[in-house]
Amino acid sequence: MADAQIIDGKVISAAVKARVAEAVARLKADHGLTPGLAVVLVGNDPASEVYVRSKGIASREAGMNSFEFKMPAETSEAEVLAKVRELNADPLVHGFLVQFPVPDQISQQAVIDAIDPVKDADGLHPLNAGRLASGLPAMVPATPEGCLIMAKLAAGGDLSGRHAVVIGRSNLVGKPVAQLLLRENCTVTMAHSRSRDLPGLARQADILVAAVGRPNMVRGDWIKPGAIVIDVGINRVPAPEKGEGKTRLIGDVDFAEAVKVAGAITPVPGGVGLMTVACLMRNAVIAACRQRGVAVPDGL
Ligand code: NAP
Repeated sequence: MADAQIIDGKVISAAVKARVAEAVARLKADHGLTPGLAVVLVGNDPASEVYVRSKGIASREAGMNSFEFKMPAETSEAEVLAKVRELNADPLVHGFLVQFPVPDQISQQAVIDAIDPVKDADGLHPLNAGRLASGLPAMVPATPEGCLIMAKLAAGGDLSGRHAVVIGRSNLVGKPVAQLLLRENCTVTMAHSRSRDLPGLARQADILVAAVGRPNMVRGDWIKPGAIVIDVGINRVPAPEKGEGKTRLIGDVDFAEAVKVAGAITPVPGGVGLMTVACLMRNAVIAACRQRGVAVPDGL
């Protein structure tokens, strides 16, 4: 059997960003509206810093307003909540998020609950999660949206009737991915750490989404021949072959094995990870349109 088609995050995210840039240009020209995306970073986790920087660069490239707020690691929960309230009220900010993880003294849920749902760029507020589960228009978490775009493209645009198995049930990834797949008329199985016979469940999947955080957990013989495999996992592992103390990123799926069996697969890096920023920008543009009461430009 030929190797799987590689679902290229670089190409697909570039296409989403181009559509965002087009929509931004149209909103500026037609309505004098410049969508704004803000990110709050508490502490100095190096991975988060890189990620926040890349959001800023991509937003500016698309013609959006971009705001970054860095707060020291010892910032109190009250101070972060005050910043959230400030952004809720800022008319230049249409979408924002607080980068997670936050330091231990701050409750992640308290932060999520304080965000105005219409500005909730990463769709984590319970109102948006509930609206998504109810099949209503919602702010949709960016990474799951990226997974869906990739799966749909790999399937030729229609996922109806396919059996999707999602491994992982976090509010950030697994649950919203499952809701989005259900909305696309998939039959959805959600698996997690208590699921029995995970390999057997995975082998039933026409679409297999792994969002676990365990390097190379999904082996080649867990995959149904021809399946679409979406690997959300980002795991940093030692890479002594690159030199002492060096590391590299790998997914939750053993790529070398899976590529021999799957029909299409996302690589890590270069897959889902690249979609998150693009979908976040798209969310901020949609939020800006809703807040201003203008139609979301076609094609976004
Ligand atoms: P999480 O909150 O830690 O959730 C992990 C999920 O995996 C949980 O539902 C857990 O089950 C399940 N799990 C753990 N061990 C398992 C096992 N042995 N068998 C089956 N299921 C198991 O993680 P997350 O935030 O969803 O992130 C998952 C991965 O995606 C991580 O590698 C993360 O870095 C990556 N990620 C990537 C992006 C991106 O591409 N931009 C964005 C977000 C996350 P229980 O619920 O039973 O504990």
